[in-house]
Amino acid sequence: MTGEALIVLENVNKWFGPLHVLQDVDLSVARGEVVVVIGPSGSGKSTLCRAINRLEPIDSGSITFDGRKLPAEGRALARLRSEVGMVFQSFNLFAHKTILQNVMLGPVKVRGEKPAAARERAMSLLERVGIASQADKFPAQLSGGQQQRVAIARALAMQPKALLFDEPTSALDPEMVGEVLDVMTSLAKDGMTMVVVTHEMGFARHAAHRVVFMADGQLVEQASPAEFFANPKSDRAKDFLSKIL
Ligand code: ADP
Ligand code: MG
Repeated sequence: MTGEALIVLENVNKWFGPLHVLQDVDLSVARGEVVVVIGPSGSGKSTLCRAINRLEPIDSGSITFDGRKLPAEGRALARLRSEVGMVFQSFNLFAHKTILQNVMLGPVKVRGEKPAAARERAMSLLERVGIASQADKFPAQLSGGQQQRVAIARALAMQPKALLFDEPTSALDPEMVGEVLDVMTSLAKDGMTMVVVTHEMGFARHAAHRVVFMADGQLVEQASPAEFFANPKSDRAKDFLSKIL
């Protein structure tokens, strides 16, 4: 961890109608840091991720990425999106494209890379997530765990400065969770900046530098995993942990 801030949210507020989903959220993520966000369903974790990527506009406050304020639209926004990869619960692969094509598409279409170069890099990313042998198959021919690993390779293909994960293993059969978490753990060890919403407390304990606990749109507490799991301070966090551990 270098300590230099890459993602900074200051006093961020967001409403859905009367619902105050993000309440005065302050969060700073350093380059190379792995922040795991946990909290009950409906607490605003997905909205937080979507706000960082500007998939969701905020009502007040500011979000900066790598020293720049989040652009509202246009080419600057497209560039920002390519710098912040996102991996969702549902893998969102293109069903009618092969695994290799799924990974090459963004680099060629958005980044303007030459197909030959993009193909070579896509293959090495598929290698990295342990799926190179499936390159010519279609998503439906792969297991959920394999598809999610492809989705991670696809996000990496854009050479992002940070990756956001929103419950990346929640849709998977239990026996496939480990293979996806292993890939994420290896990215974390390699110094990728990551914000990970997950219910996988093992991952939080072993891979996170910091755990952030959210409830009702607020960042209720944040601490190192060791400190948070041994000694949660708020009643909300104690209650949450007592239900899931
Ligand atoms: P989490 O990911 O922690 O489960 P979300 O960020 O998805 O929470 O949702 C936070 C709250 O905002 C929930 O009450 C949810 O129902 C509500 N919400 C999320 N998206 C929308 C939307 N597009 N319109 C209205 N309400 C929404
Ligand atoms: Mg969610």
